[in-house]
Amino acid sequence: MKIFKFGGASVKDANGVKNIAKILSDHSSEKLLVVISAMGKSTNHLERLVHASVHNTGETAVLLKELKDYHYSIIDGLDTSNPSAMLNDIENLFLELECLAETPSAPEEYDFVYDQVVSFGELISTKIVSHFLLSEGLKNQWIDSRNFIITDDRYRDARIQWNETEKIIIKKLKPLAERQTVITQGFIGRGPVNETTTLGREGSDYSAAIFAYCLNADSVTIWKDVAGVMNADPKKMDNATLIPHLGYSDAIELAYYGASVIHPKTIQPLMAKNIPLFVKSFVNPEVPGTQVSNNSTTLNVPCYIFKENQVLVELKTRDFTFIVEQNLEQIFRLLAQYKVRCNIIQNSAISFSFVADNKENKMTSLLSELEKLGLTIEITESLELITIYNATEVSKNVILGQKQVILEQNTGNTAHYLLKP
Ligand code: ASP
Ligand code: MG
Repeated sequence: MKIFKFGGASVKDANGVKNIAKILSDHSSEKLLVVISAMGKSTNHLERLVHASVHNTGETAVLLKELKDYHYSIIDGLDTSNPSAMLNDIENLFLELECLAETPSAPEEYDFVYDQVVSFGELISTKIVSHFLLSEGLKNQWIDSRNFIITDDRYRDARIQWNETEKIIIKKLKPLAERQTVITQGFIGRGPVNETTTLGREGSDYSAAIFAYCLNADSVTIWKDVAGVMNADPKKMDNATLIPHLGYSDAIELAYYGASVIHPKTIQPLMAKNIPLFVKSFVNPEVPGTQVSNNSTTLNVPCYIFKENQVLVELKTRDFTFIVEQNLEQIFRLLAQYKVRCNIIQNSAISFSFVADNKENKMTSLLSELEKLGLTIEITESLELITIYNATEVSKNVILGQKQVILEQNTGNTAHYLLKP
């Protein structure tokens, strides 16, 4: 069995959905489980809906209408001869979503509400695709992944309960998937009291890997709007090149440092069972793309990862004590509590510094908590972080040019540079 995953960009319009039908019909002789994301940017739109709903801003009706218009225009563009079954399902889903969004909720419930609401992006998307495939004569079974992906209740960042998930997938999903193509959602799961949970933004790749692991799949293919894994974002570097073969550990490191082609959690479950991952273009499906597997070829090019909107936070004690004496534990606890992941950490006798993505709401609350510890705080915003994996002298010079480096960290073959733009 093979797992295919199609992201939001692949289903952003009617032509995208038709293209998926074409790709699937080219693979009609294979056993497939197909994971599909929310259409286009609808997850972002649903995030705005959550905000409007919880904070009662009066915008829910407009946001819902825009979301509906967007999906109905895709349905229109599909020209299905008899769309009534599809329309029926979609109308029901929108009705449910409307009721949820119009139910008052408290700000403390934000993350819970988020998961209940935002999950509709994938539910709607997969229903549309599944019905369209049926109308094109491509037999398939729509499955609600919340019946199989079992998680804890860390809303917006739920952790998989692997034992339960594996058990139920083998018992209930495997027999179904052996018989026909399964269409299901990425990103969403089910929590301890049967509520919906989500696995973190861009989590659909991870869902594909979870299904692959539990089903002992032969391979996973992530279909993207790029040719495969490149050694840099081609929008940032003209001479970015495709990496045809990548070992699991290199892929994990690249994803971890922020190469956005693969979600960081995706590789480990695949590596555990030696399942190869293909990253291919849905625009040019015949091009081989990148294969991530246990091959022995070493990565022979430097890879560049660019991250903008970084903030450097420097903490010092006010009472002339050393920072390690009692503060580190409290600092790390707060970082974890506010889910701030550090891209760089550095400490000296009297200071502790970290670099992180500057997510306004989290950062403001974190900084005010740090202040309460009696630390002085210095922040520098709007920085760029460049990570070079497999760094060489030449690659450093190429990328840094005349830019002003304000912090540099080297570990093994990886170099981080924090730059003033
Ligand atoms: N739809 C979700 C997102 O945009 C999950 C995914 O596409 O991977 O984050
Ligand atoms: Mg996506």
